Amino acid sequence: MGGEGDAGRDGRDGEDGQMVQSRRVTHWIGGKSWDGEAARRGPVFDPSTGEQVAEVDFATAAEVDRAVEVAAPAQVAWGRTSLAKRAAVLFAFRELLADRVDELARIVSTEHGKVRSDAAGEVARGLEIVDYACGIPELLKAEHSIGVSTDVDAYSFRQPLGVVAGITPFNFPAMVPLWMAPLAVACGNAFILKPSERDPSASVWLAERWADAGLPEGVFQVVHGDKEAVDAVLEHPGIAAVSFVGSTPVARYIYERSAATGKRVQALGGAKNHLVVLPDADPDVVADALVNSAYGSAGERCMAVSVAVVVGEGRSALVDRVAERAARLVVGPNDDPDAEMGPLVTRPHLERVMGYLTAGEDAGAHLVLDGRDHPHGGGKDGFWLGPTLFDDVTEDMSIYADEIFGPVLSVVAAGSLDEAIGLINRNPYGNGAAIFTNDMAAARRFEVEVEAGMIGINVPIPVPMAYYGFGGWGTSLFGDHDIYGPDGVRFYTRQKKVTARPLAHRGSLSFPTNQ
Ligand code: NAD
Repeated sequence: MGGEGDAGRDGRDGEDGQMVQSRRVTHWIGGKSWDGEAARRGPVFDPSTGEQVAEVDFATAAEVDRAVEVAAPAQVAWGRTSLAKRAAVLFAFRELLADRVDELARIVSTEHGKVRSDAAGEVARGLEIVDYACGIPELLKAEHSIGVSTDVDAYSFRQPLGVVAGITPFNFPAMVPLWMAPLAVACGNAFILKPSERDPSASVWLAERWADAGLPEGVFQVVHGDKEAVDAVLEHPGIAAVSFVGSTPVARYIYERSAATGKRVQALGGAKNHLVVLPDADPDVVADALVNSAYGSAGERCMAVSVAVVVGEGRSALVDRVAERAARLVVGPNDDPDAEMGPLVTRPHLERVMGYLTAGEDAGAHLVLDGRDHPHGGGKDGFWLGPTLFDDVTEDMSIYADEIFGPVLSVVAAGSLDEAIGLINRNPYGNGAAIFTNDMAAARRFEVEVEAGMIGINVPIPVPMAYYGFGGWGTSLFGDHDIYGPDGVRFYTRQKKVTARPLAHRGSLSFPTNQ
């Protein structure tokens, strides 16, 4: 597993004193695998078995420096490369990715734990952004006004920022880097990716495909690591902009530090997504939607629905339907073709999520389905938890207020649509919200009044298409720009305005006016 850039290691002493084999995942700098030693490393696990499958090098400021040193001249040349040639590299990268979706999906699912079909879906959604970026000649078409004054023209165009960085979360190790890099690169920037240290191999595989596609060395690089590597990126004067996707506390930190060091920044944070069920909605359709969106990828999706708000009567019938479907979900390892849901990503994360099960019970919520009892087909030391369902959840409970990021769905009662909208709008997160109803007037009120960046109407996970852009409100996004889509092009470029008098002639000392 893993890309060719993952240099194998001979062995090292395990905790029990035995020699263990460990695959090494290292940085991708200057068009090749880093061959230096690492001061620090971290373990990478297969969440299905709990076994360590690799070790990843952690960058210090020195490796980040080296990456920027290589990126800076590479960017100047790449930024001046014609749009036609840049688009040709994007097209080549797109073909390589499309031909090898299964290979990348296997890498993603082994380190993340999500089932293979879900991993392939993640790659497919990432591919859509590459498709969009292939249209860069059209996307960068600029404006031109002839004769704004006598013999004077005015026009504007957009230029790359320089060297930019992306810092990404564990839950989409292929898709989220693909939300950023294709547009950053297409716009003429050099891109340095700092992926999650928990599932780092997908990013190295992507770096190899960029190289295969003919992208010049230094235009796409990968530095692995934790906070130390992130801080080196944030403090580096040679990095002009940072795109971040991850949890809200880290997003806030990235936003503040980037602003303090003068960088352009977009920092997407966590989520608590509500799905409102109006009385006229078909309970079978709603139950399917809730099960898919709450338990898909074990709830480790920023667009997972973690709260169902049921308006009026019919709550207990809906809860029964969801519980019955969730109990039937096949929970198993990613190489089981029947598995619908995998394990959580690490043991500490599993323990944190299980802590919420205890907290919910202690707070008086009704535990309808307990994931600790659910059968699974994985290794006994894997990080397993089955689908969990709480009813009678109220706003003051931590299972309602906190982002749990596991297969835990809370059901809350609301007396009216107004009450449901009020509940959502009091929540500090504002990533996505959905409504299920056939009453289009109610749906329209919902889309207008709800304070969230992405709305689903009879659609549970409204991840917008590549040509719209992705981004929440509130503490789900710090910054002005959505990620990808037209905002992605704006984020990765800056505008220059030119006023030109093609026939030079003498002017006066007065401020120019339109004549
Ligand atoms: P995380 O915030 O722990 O980590 C994200 C990145 O930040 C990683 O690369 C990590 O190495 C780095 N990091 C972690 N702690 C840091 C610190 N103290 N200082 C500096 N850098 C640090 O997030 P995660 O657990 O990898 O991912 C899950 C989170 O990401 C969830 O909150 C989820 O909602 C969110 N997410 C949001 C979106 C979105 O579009 N809004 C998409 C995917 C995931």
